Parts: sequence; C-alpha cells; structure tokens
Amino acid sequence: MIPAPFSYVRADSVDHVLSLLVEHGDEAKVLAGGQSLLPILKMRLARPEVVVDISRLSELAYVRVEGDEVAIGAATRHREVVDSADLQRDVPLLPYVASLVGDRQVRHRGTFGGSLVHGDPAADLPAAVLALGATFVIQGPAGRREVPAPEFFQDYFQTAVGEDELLLEIRVPRVPGVGWAYEKFTRRANDWAIVAVAAVDNRVALANMSMTPMRAVAVEAALAGGASAAQAAQAAAEGTSPVTDMHADEEYRGHLARVLTERALVTAAGR
Ligand SMILES: Cc1cc2nc3c(=O)[nH]c(=O)nc-3n(C[C@H](O)[C@H](O)[C@H](O)COP(=O)(O)OP(=O)(O)OC[C@H]3O[C@@H](n4cnc5c(N)ncnc54)[C@H](O)[C@@H]3O)c2cc1C
Repeated sequence: MIPAPFSYVRADSVDHVLSLLVEHGDEAKVLAGGQSLLPILKMRLARPEVVVDISRLSELAYVRVEGDEVAIGAATRHREVVDSADLQRDVPLLPYVASLVGDRQVRHRGTFGGSLVHGDPAADLPAAVLALGATFVIQGPAGRREVPAPEFFQDYFQTAVGEDELLLEIRVPRVPGVGWAYEKFTRRANDWAIVAVAAVDNRVALANMSMTPMRAVAVEAALAGGASAAQAAQAAAEGTSPVTDMHADEEYRGHLARVLTERALVTAAGR
C-alpha cells in the first residue's frame, strides 16, 4: 500500500527535531531506520502531516564508554551495536541480541532507539535492556529527563517518550564477566520472537509474554530465595498475560517461557 501524503524534513540537529515536534505536535512523526514506521505509514495506521528524518544525525549515533556505563545514541544502527568492540567487551548481551534482530537489511537500517521507542512487546532489544537495567535519556520542550527501564515500557506499543519528545540516548551498566544469555524462540531464523528470555546474572526479562516486555519477578524472587535454575524457571509464566495468536496460544507461550528461562539461567550461570 501507499502511505497517505506527508511532508518530509531531514533534520540537521537535535534542536531542529525538537522545534519541529513542538511546531507540529501529534501531526509529526520521527523517522529513524523506518523499519517499523514505514510499514505503519503504508498500512495507514498513522497519517502524520510531517515526517522528521533523524537517520543522518551523527550526534545521535555513537557507542561510548562513560565511567561504569556504556552510552548508546538512539540513532545507532543495530549493525553498529553488533560490531561495537566496547559493547562486545562490556555488555556482550546487546551485540548478541542485536545480531538476532530481523535480517541484514533490517540491521543495517534499523536503530537501537527506534526499536525501543516502537515498544513492540515481541521485539528483542526491549527485553535485553530491561534485564540490564538501562536508563533512557529523553529530551522535550520541558528539558531533559532520565527514565529507568521499568518505567519506560508503559503499554502496548507505548513508551515514556511523548509526542513532542525525542529519545536521545540509552545508558547501560557495564557488566564485563557477568553471566548472560538470550533465548529466542522463532519458527524461522529472522522472525520476531514467539517468546524470548534475556538473563543477566539473576535478572530475567521476557519478550512477548505481556502487552509490554517485562521482568520475570517471580523467577528472580525464587532465585534470590535459593531456588535452582530449574525450580525458578517454573515461575516464568507467573504474572504474565500473553496473547493467543496464529503462532501460539497462551498455554504454549507459558510452556516456552519456562523452558527458555531455564535454558537462559543455565547458560548465564556457565559464562
Ligand atoms: C522484516 C523485518 C523483520 C524484523 N525483525 C525483527 C526482529 O526479529 N526483532 C526485533 O526486535 N525487531 C524486528 N524488526 C523491527 C526492527 O528492529 C526495527 O528496526 C525497529 O523496530 C524500529 O527501528 P527503526 O530505527 O527502524 O525505527 P522507525 O521505524 O524509524 O521508528 C519506529 C518508531 O519509533 C519512533 N522513533 C524512532 N526513533 C526515535 C527517537 N530517537 N525518539 C523518538 N521516537 C523515535 C518513530 O517515530 C516510530 O514511531 C523487524 C523489522 C522488519 C522490517
């Protein structure tokens, strides 16, 4: 299908983006890699008057080690996350998970921040940043604010980034040497997860088990209480509300969550 008509502006700075968002309000949409936005426009699920392209803003594309964190610019491509030596050394979960996002074309165009703001509960990177305890740096007309990961994913395809705001940066703790794993269950190699589980040390996050990515708090509590990986994993579906769709029903997703959580915990413990 063909999108409804819109004006296109290639932003030349963050300030330029923000002034356009203030000027056009909910009639403006930010375009990063376009891997999710373009299908939405083509299906006419959104009909913005103005599309503001941030994909060439080099000030939003970087990976930097800063103290005990790594800062990732929102417009950093999935491919750059995969290739980052700093992330491979300090936060190896992220390059691994980014390598599983879609196919090569998607990874060359799609951005780290775009995937997170999109807020798809089936996406891979949201579960990873939840398990890592990331912080999101957001800028809008009222200034700059920092949002911790558990408050960022608010509802189905809805995050803490307002319509007149821009996600600037994601900050993740450096965790070299800490055990990690990501278990993604798909029918085909480059599909979205039917269910996925991220584990960092004893923190566990689930993809596609609810309207938002979520921490598996019952699993984490069981581990803190001394349960084995196999015992704790039995709690993986507690508090979840997965959809039933053409890929899997609720019961099967619960089963997958338990199996994948046990695998992730065992792998993380062995690293
Ligand atoms: C064939 C295909 C397969 C895929 N497979 C997977 C997969 O297996 N796993 C997975 O996780 N994802 C998958 N994706 C989605 C992919 O990860 C996208 O890159 C990602 O969802 C969106 O990133 P983007 O940069 O393309 O954002 P865009 O599509 O440009 O934008 C997405 C949304 O975020 C907003 N936005 C973007 N950046 C910002 C910002 N900095 N501040 C404020 N708002 C912003 C946009 O306005 C829009 O609402 C797939 C996509 C395709 C096309």
